[in-house]
Amino acid sequence: EAKNAGKNQFKFFTESLHQQLVHEIELENNMQRALDNGEFELYYQPKISVTTGQVTGAEALIRWIDPNKGVITPDRFIPSAEKSGLMVPLGDWVLETAVRQQIDWKKRGLGDFQVSVNLSPVQLINNHFEEKLNRLIQESGITPSKLDVEMTESQFMENSEQNLSLLHAIQQKGISISLDDFGTGYSSLAYLKKFPINTLKIDKTFMDDYDTESGAIFIETIIKIAQTLNLNVVAEGIEHPEQLDYLVKTGCETYQGFFCSRPLPAAEFEKFLTMEKSCCH
Ligand code: C2E
Ligand code: MG
Ligand code: MG
Ligand code: MG
Repeated sequence: EAKNAGKNQFKFFTESLHQQLVHEIELENNMQRALDNGEFELYYQPKISVTTGQVTGAEALIRWIDPNKGVITPDRFIPSAEKSGLMVPLGDWVLETAVRQQIDWKKRGLGDFQVSVNLSPVQLINNHFEEKLNRLIQESGITPSKLDVEMTESQFMENSEQNLSLLHAIQQKGISISLDDFGTGYSSLAYLKKFPINTLKIDKTFMDDYDTESGAIFIETIIKIAQTLNLNVVAEGIEHPEQLDYLVKTGCETYQGFFCSRPLPAAEFEKFLTMEKSCCH
């Protein structure tokens, strides 16, 4: 009987493993098809000046608009894309689309602000990333400082030596680099000094706790560190007016969050740009 139970467990185990595998393969095939069919779309969330309420940038956030399932958010497919190798062409598409959008908004007089793109570390490991960037800058004519790339702390540390020199080269071109979700990884101060970064993005989980004593100490310490290292600071995930009131007092220059705007499809983002002269102020 014990032997049978073991057998059943094994069967259960292999079946669920098999199902997982089938699911992964299906997802990978679907993503490839989606990329070919143009089902991916970039949404844009404004970066807003804390003091003036003006739009100072836009973060591109990918969505998969599946004809049957509707809008799929990146946490549901980016990890598979990274495992399957599709992240490289998908990441190329994100970069090209965001850069083209920046140029288009500039040409149409809608704004000449920076666009931020989230980078996956597999894009760096894959060779030719620097050449691709060079070509993109040349062909599009974008001013490199109007492009910003965001990476999380743990992504920075992956493959660190090789990544570091590549990121230094990227920064040297004039592209700016943001450390995303700051506070959730394991950066030590020593790393912060070594990393080629222009901006710290304080993770939403810290901003949620702004109204507790220890929460405020964390936020203000991060802002002080940024000021000491001459970095810009962006507060992520601002949802309430009280959080913005608080930010005004801290000296943090920029924020993002649902309070001002959710990520929007390009056309809606453009409406936002023309309507909201000064957001939520
Ligand atoms: P992230 O770069 O840290 O982006 C911030 C996430 O927080 C976004 O989720 C955004 O919609 C959400 N957010 C912004 N403001 C608020 C707020 O006030 N409240 C709450 N609750 N959430 C807010 P999203 O778009 O689902 O993206 C999740 C993550 O997926 C991103 O985190 C980023 O790491 C990754 N991602 C998104 N687009 C891309 C991409 O094109 N390439 C890569 N490699 N990763 C991407
Ligand atoms: Mg980001
Ligand atoms: Mg973030
Ligand atoms: Mg994040």
